Amino acid sequence: MTGEAGTYDVIVVGGGVNGTGIAMDAAGRGLKVLLCEMNDLASATSSRSSKLIHGGLRYLEHYEFRLVRQALAEREALLANAPHIMWPLRFRLPHQPHLRPAWMIRAGLFLYDHLAKRERLPGSRSVTFTSDDPLKPGITRGFEYSDGWVDDARLVVLTARKAEDLGATILTRTRCVRAERGSDTWQVTLQDTCTGDSRVVHTRALVNAAGPWVSSLFGSTMDQQPPRMIRMVKGSHIVVPRLNRDSEAYILQNEDERIVFVIPYEDHFSLVGTTDVDYEGNPAEATISDEETDYLMAIVNHYFRHQLTPEDVVWSYSGVRPLMDDEEGSAQKASRDYSFEVDAPDGKTPLLSVFGGKLTTFRKLSEAATDRLCQFFPSAGGHWTRTAVLPGGDFDDHPQLQAALQKRYPWLPELLVSRLVRCYGTDSYRLLGASESLDDLGQHFLGTLYQREVQYLVRHEWAVTAEDILWRRTKQGLYATRRDVETLDRWLQSQQELTGLRHATPG
Ligand SMILES: Cc1cc2nc3c(=O)[nH]c(=O)nc-3n(C[C@H](O)[C@H](O)[C@H](O)COP(=O)(O)OP(=O)(O)OC[C@H]3O[C@@H](n4cnc5c(N)ncnc54)[C@H](O)[C@@H]3O)c2cc1C
Repeated sequence: MTGEAGTYDVIVVGGGVNGTGIAMDAAGRGLKVLLCEMNDLASATSSRSSKLIHGGLRYLEHYEFRLVRQALAEREALLANAPHIMWPLRFRLPHQPHLRPAWMIRAGLFLYDHLAKRERLPGSRSVTFTSDDPLKPGITRGFEYSDGWVDDARLVVLTARKAEDLGATILTRTRCVRAERGSDTWQVTLQDTCTGDSRVVHTRALVNAAGPWVSSLFGSTMDQQPPRMIRMVKGSHIVVPRLNRDSEAYILQNEDERIVFVIPYEDHFSLVGTTDVDYEGNPAEATISDEETDYLMAIVNHYFRHQLTPEDVVWSYSGVRPLMDDEEGSAQKASRDYSFEVDAPDGKTPLLSVFGGKLTTFRKLSEAATDRLCQFFPSAGGHWTRTAVLPGGDFDDHPQLQAALQKRYPWLPELLVSRLVRCYGTDSYRLLGASESLDDLGQHFLGTLYQREVQYLVRHEWAVTAEDILWRRTKQGLYATRRDVETLDRWLQSQQELTGLRHATPG
């Protein structure tokens, strides 16, 4: 937008939901943007969440009304902008009188229903459980309310795609190793983590959206003390064979005042989480402990007829929440709100750092962050993201799109059609192109994954490794054997050698 070629207006460090959100918003306002991510998009916290678009019922107990109101208001905007990767989810809350009294839950749900405008989602109500429910026979009463579900990793990738469509440069496998403030610009050194090659780029504003690395980035790249610290809190999930009978999720209260979700997951599974454990290691290396697995299984086993054992755990993952360090006692009580630090000592060359946040509030956070940046770019545009549809999200109704795709490609297996709609929405047409039979989809790797989709992910979604494809662009990893993974990785490598298909690094 401004100035000489080669100098960016904004460089964003971090390809999680907040970094890509800011890159998209800023690019849409006409700024020249580059985003660097040291690994794959969403490879850290943003693919390891509970995947809920929610106000956070339990935050009401901590009087976080501002956060809950803002998050509730965001739910419907997000659901409208990306209906392929997000959808409404109904939660059932079994009532245990000795934990929270019914009046308290009713009051909380009343607030939850009314704190923000709600058009798409039905309100809460009392429910009676019967033998059709998977709960133990003694559990007969409870409540129901609405929130939303999101494929967190795909949210990040599609936000990055939208940013790229608007002119942003997205560099994955590119680490910011040095950032030095000059009189007019930042000089930023980027290193390709595959080849080790470095290059220097210049920018008028720098954004630190490094999530759990936000504080350490100050020391590692700028030789500076961070203006504030974050509190790293690990949360883990287990995936088990389907416990939910239908499309409803469960929210289970525990004796320690925590809650645990049991969410229908990927056709055949349930996702159970999460925990809250203070964490000090490398955020990229967080894994579930035996205690966390036992904790999650014990809560499920308290409520559900089916009794889980460690053998039921098909997959687990852990993420590190980069929370604002408000020195609250327990990890679960630390605020999930966000804040910014803007450092611009010379009245220009600003550094904006993001602390905290939630998936649910990423659009609002990105808008507010870009507003702060735009103080330094007076000719930049105004707010635009509230109704911005993400790639593939230009439709209203899943069954309708599924039927239309099935009509156009009658030979497609039903499971594959429904997965394509949930991953790519209307971009499924682009992915399938002129294919006329299953053979046209090329090599079958595993589950419902064929060569044509893999090629699409490499070309259009920055996928490089089997892990990118099996765990972040899709969840086909749930069905993959070790041999499947090796075969896919070998195929990807051979293609990269053959065609240099890796997303190009700009010269
Ligand atoms: C267990 C758990 C459950 C959660 N559940 C929910 C939920 O249900 N709903 C909800 O709304 N929120 C939820 N959250 C919160 C939400 O996931 C996070 O707030 C959000 O993902 C943080 O995104 P981020 O972009 O700030 O960080 P990240 O996703 O961690 O992104 C930061 C990125 O910066 C990159 N990076 C770091 N240093 C460098 C460098 N030097 N150069 C280049 N790149 C760098 C990292 O590789 C990383 O990808 C949950 C979080 C956890 C951990």
